[in-house]
Amino acid sequence: MTALRGARPLVRRRRQRGRSGGAADWPLGAEVAVDGVVKSYGQIEALRGISLIVQAGEWVTITGPSGSGKSTLLNLIGALDRPDAGTIRVAGRLVPEPRQAVEFRRHAVGFMFQDNLLLPYLSAQSNVETALIATGLGRRERAARSTELLAEVALGERARHLPSELSGGERQRVALARALANRPRLLLADEPTGALDSASGERALDLLGAMRERHGMTLILVSHDPVVAERADRVVRLVDGRVEAADLRSARGRRPSASE
Ligand code: ADP
Repeated sequence: MTALRGARPLVRRRRQRGRSGGAADWPLGAEVAVDGVVKSYGQIEALRGISLIVQAGEWVTITGPSGSGKSTLLNLIGALDRPDAGTIRVAGRLVPEPRQAVEFRRHAVGFMFQDNLLLPYLSAQSNVETALIATGLGRRERAARSTELLAEVALGERARHLPSELSGGERQRVALARALANRPRLLLADEPTGALDSASGERALDLLGAMRERHGMTLILVSHDPVVAERADRVVRLVDGRVEAADLRSARGRRPSASE
């Protein structure tokens, strides 16, 4: 943990330079290495030995039928739960136990969920700012950073609006801005388009892809929807808690640009 905190200023300096210097200056994101991971809930074997490497900066979509273990795997990678056996490393470091993962979640990883989980009585801007409180930034910096993030997701004009005054797609964009608030090197997204119509879902995926490139993140996205899976560099399919197929999609070669 001390090491994570110690590495922070260097990462931040590099990224601040990158903001003006273009995507190439941003770090690439964190490699994720899952090795022999097993997880059961009582009699239910949710994961039966998952091994998987997601390269730094890669976009992997984990797909598969309901109950195949997708969310369980994502939660383990994000230190929301712990495996019964096996290891998970992010950027070469073992993912800590959930109770010791405060620093990991504060600095290394961002989360997006289907029901974007915005606080209903706070404006879009305050929702993003709350994610910054734990990072130790001062009030002015938090305000500046959340303004910048909302502009990036094209919601600068709606910063003062409550979630109930925004569309589903706009709420998901606030959730994305919030997930990026701590400058994560790894973004975990669980059915991020699940509550959106297909056009809004497409736009959300465009934005996710653009933000991944711009901020230099690894993106692991869970979806049961094959249309969503199409957008990844690689699709990993889980069936009954095991990896069924890993499909290299580099031939598709489509990475949406920030201007899309
Ligand atoms: P998916 O995301 O692919 O739909 P999940 O990872 O949510 O699958 O679930 C995998 C299996 O583990 C399912 O059978 C589910 O019911 C079970 N499961 C997941 N979380 C829990 C939990 N907290 N307690 C008990 N069973 C769970």
